[in-house]
Amino acid sequence: MPLVSMRQLLDEAAKGQYGVGAFNVNDMEQIQAIMMAARQTNSPVIVQASRGARAFAEDLYLFKLIQAAAELNPDIPIAMHQDHGNSFDTCKSAIALGYTSVMMDGSLKEDGKTPSTFEENVDVTRRVVDYAHERGVTVEGEIGVLGGVEDGHGAGGSGLEHITDPDQAVEFAERTGVDALAIAIGTSHGAYKFNKKPDGSVLKMDVLIAIHKRLPHTHLVMHGSSSVPKELQDIVNEYGGKLKPTWGVPIEEIQLGIRNGVRKVNVDTDNRLAMTGAIRKVLWTQPEKFDPRDYMKPAREAMAKVVAERMTEFGQAGHAGDYKPIPISEMAKGYANGSLDPRPSLAAR
Ligand SMILES: [Zn+2]
Repeated sequence: MPLVSMRQLLDEAAKGQYGVGAFNVNDMEQIQAIMMAARQTNSPVIVQASRGARAFAEDLYLFKLIQAAAELNPDIPIAMHQDHGNSFDTCKSAIALGYTSVMMDGSLKEDGKTPSTFEENVDVTRRVVDYAHERGVTVEGEIGVLGGVEDGHGAGGSGLEHITDPDQAVEFAERTGVDALAIAIGTSHGAYKFNKKPDGSVLKMDVLIAIHKRLPHTHLVMHGSSSVPKELQDIVNEYGGKLKPTWGVPIEEIQLGIRNGVRKVNVDTDNRLAMTGAIRKVLWTQPEKFDPRDYMKPAREAMAKVVAERMTEFGQAGHAGDYKPIPISEMAKGYANGSLDPRPSLAAR
């Protein structure tokens, strides 16, 4: 199956009232792990690459691997998404490669660190939307600023400093025409999200629910939504790792989000922990091993297991065959004739 528009995946998820995991990739084994899980659970899936991943893997290696995944899995809808584009040019280069979706993270300036103004965010996001929609490509924007730093991208901080204002979210969605909207509700990138099991004082699900009430037709995106399970931390630490105790976003909170308009759930840290734990275990218990396949195969299996669990928990499992993919060129026509216009004032029709 050719790569599918992320907008179509999210529209279908909204109809079916489920969420779709967006899993980060940097190499072949991670892509294979995601596809193993998608096949096993019969799930549509979003595969995403950060700027750091594109630099690490070199653009063409990574994109050709995704194309191979699509070719080898004709029954699985796959959207290929640029995670945290920092500029118009980053998004443009992803679209040139063939990505079917881009995130323009205009909540930060182009340096990927300094929070931008609302007007700056609207301007750059609107430019990306115009360019991408003309080509049938989906756009995710961000309003509010997430906590933490990942791959050198992020404002740092706790995630509570720039919580999304629901009124601004409505204005942003209307003025930019984004297909999906990432919101800041206290989550952070990376492993160290919360120093205890999060409650309403640090994870603002009430803000998410308020935004969904105002924007019932906008696909919401939760970033930094690894659950960082203790079992995965323990495996890393049992075999020589030194992770400090930490808490992620509990699955039940993500599921509450999915009941309130969240359609895309970003997960990276859990997969990193699963792979690292599996590799550490082999190298620690069998120090005579030196063939990378001896530890990459268990690492791939460990990641596939976590991804399959998330696919089941988010509800996307079983939905791969629900719909026929719409070609990207048809999506472009839909944007041009207004039938796919995602602005909230039009979405209720
Ligand atoms: Zn993110």
